[in-house]
Amino acid sequence: MTTINMAAQKLLALRDVEKARTAGATDLLTAAGCVITPSARDFLQQHGITVRTANGSGHVAEGKQAANQNNVSGKAANNTKQTSRLHSEPHPSAAELFHSAEAEVIKQEICAVGKKLWSRMYVDGNGGNISYRIGPNAVICTPTLISKADLTPEDLCMVDMEGNQIAGVRPRTSEVFLHLEIYKAVPEAKAAVHCHPPHATAYAITGRVPPSRVVPEYEVFVGKVAIAPYETPGTAKFAETVLPFVQQHNTVLLANHGIVCWADTVTHAEWYAEVVDTYCWTLMLATQLGAPLSYIPPDKASDLLSIKRRLGLPDVRFDSNQMKECQLSDLQMPSAIALVPNACESQTSVARNMEEVDIEALVKLVSDSVMAALEEN
Ligand SMILES: [Zn+2]
Repeated sequence: MTTINMAAQKLLALRDVEKARTAGATDLLTAAGCVITPSARDFLQQHGITVRTANGSGHVAEGKQAANQNNVSGKAANNTKQTSRLHSEPHPSAAELFHSAEAEVIKQEICAVGKKLWSRMYVDGNGGNISYRIGPNAVICTPTLISKADLTPEDLCMVDMEGNQIAGVRPRTSEVFLHLEIYKAVPEAKAAVHCHPPHATAYAITGRVPPSRVVPEYEVFVGKVAIAPYETPGTAKFAETVLPFVQQHNTVLLANHGIVCWADTVTHAEWYAEVVDTYCWTLMLATQLGAPLSYIPPDKASDLLSIKRRLGLPDVRFDSNQMKECQLSDLQMPSAIALVPNACESQTSVARNMEEVDIEALVKLVSDSVMAALEEN
């Protein structure tokens, strides 16, 4: 057992306990009355790190259960037992959590990401929304009706996992339910970004997904995207459209709408938006050159998938049964810049129109013949 003494701190945030784990801690010594934020508690539980008070009374950090005892748990009846077993009283109320040091850092990050999204023209008007799951039942999110370029920390709000606003002055975005469905379905998801980047949205409008094995960064950070069917934004039905895909994809195209990305941090979720939009844009430019795309060879593509697995990023191709089908489908259409989603990417209602695929193949055949004739001359 490696004990790290953190008794000098009155508050332990996620970054503190991450540092302790990096230093090899299996046990933390904390001051009596030290407040441990919910995400720090989650982390401690996930990594089996125990917490003791400096006066010797030992307690185990019980992660989600422990975090649930604060006023943002939503399940107060279940918490009575744990309350007496934990030393870190008082537990933050919604307001305390919303104004905690950890929350303030997250709010700054959300505002910075909002400015990036707007600068890259991924959010128009008041479009797009950003959120971070700061506790088991607490999500900081952007408000409705504000340009992401103008966001300040004071504009942000906090909701519980049912979407009820529990902190903040401005009303929350109506699209927060999309984010909440992702957090419920994917425990690793801590942050989500929804936006309307033009090139990725162009794919979403055509009901197509970009092919794989073209650019390494895209393979590693995003890989195969799925496309969720269209529903009216802001509705429960809309939020649920991503559910079949979010376990195996960190980025989903939303038909006739935009995209949503999830990650461990808000910054990383925005990176994926950049990666997918730039990729779609590059493919559009490449096809204007009039030559077929060249593809990363399958064995090298496997290297990229290995890197992705090591990074802990999800990919539908990690499922070996589905991977075969996906790879096969890409090989069958080496020059396609837009593929009709196949069964491994979309289990639901995005229609497969094989006639269109045949037309693509035909167009390729014709253009290849024309190119060959030109080269001969
Ligand atoms: Zn939207």
